[in-house]
Amino acid sequence: MDFYILTLFPEMVMNGLSASITGRAMEKGAISVGAIDIRDYSHDKHHHVDDGPYGGGAGLVMQPGPVVEAYEALSERLGKRPRLIYMTPQGRVFDQKLAEELSMETELVFLCGHYEGIDERALELVCTDQVSIGDYVLTGGELPAMVMIDCIARLVPGVLHNEGSAEEESFQDNLLEYPQYTRPEVFRGMEVPPILLSGHHQKIHEWRRQQSIIRTLERRPDLLEKAQLTKKEQAFLEELREKSLPYQPDRPQGYLATDHADQQHGGGTDGIDAERGSEIPDGDGAQLQEPF
Ligand code: SAM
Repeated sequence: MDFYILTLFPEMVMNGLSASITGRAMEKGAISVGAIDIRDYSHDKHHHVDDGPYGGGAGLVMQPGPVVEAYEALSERLGKRPRLIYMTPQGRVFDQKLAEELSMETELVFLCGHYEGIDERALELVCTDQVSIGDYVLTGGELPAMVMIDCIARLVPGVLHNEGSAEEESFQDNLLEYPQYTRPEVFRGMEVPPILLSGHHQKIHEWRRQQSIIRTLERRPDLLEKAQLTKKEQAFLEELREKSLPYQPDRPQGYLATDHADQQHGGGTDGIDAERGSEIPDGDGAQLQEPF
């Protein structure tokens, strides 16, 4: 997949994306990233690309000419007008679903604004999508474009070493991912849930699904409306809902984390047993939840 970034700061995006997994994917040829300097398309002798806003007001606006010409030159080179995403806080908010949709494209162009943004006429001429990375305002579109490219690239075949890892991630199936553990088995008195050491793949899968449901209910209950659950999982969720603890942001997050915190302070498990792993919290004492 080929990514192109129209920007005033090509080195910023190339430096960022050349590191780590996206960098290796570029080396392997699974993706390519090209930064196009909008300033190269300025006809001004000082290479200016911005001016004050008509109607007055603070700041500068990027002029339409260099933006449109940069996109047209790229389109001519590619022999088509590729999808162009303008990074803007006014756009559709980026999420995993949109990343999946965009990962089907063969090329994508990202347009990064700066200052007060870009002259509206340029956007009318070249932009097919407008996307925001969240309800806050940044100084430029480079970081948002890098966020999107990083997220989309990991869905492109050949980018991740372990192809399955993108399939079990948070937001897949509208559930957050289960907690992860690695060596050592005991860290500062905190044990890895024994079920993960059992080698019983089906039980591990079931435990992880339960943990995902618990975690999603606790942190992002809004996602559960669209989660695809089996009947048993649905029943588990209903039971959790009846018994669930209110979310407390200053508490270590996750029922297992709470358990660990208790262990650290020498306290009891308060109805939560990470060893058995599949229990659910219960103010009146723990109940062992049958795996699905
Ligand atoms: N005046 C613009 C407005 O109120 O909508 C904001 C301009 S912002 C300071 C400069 C540039 O940063 C934008 O043109 C856009 O490319 C980028 N940007 C800022 N926040 C963003 C966000 N949340 N998502 C995507 N792009 C953003």
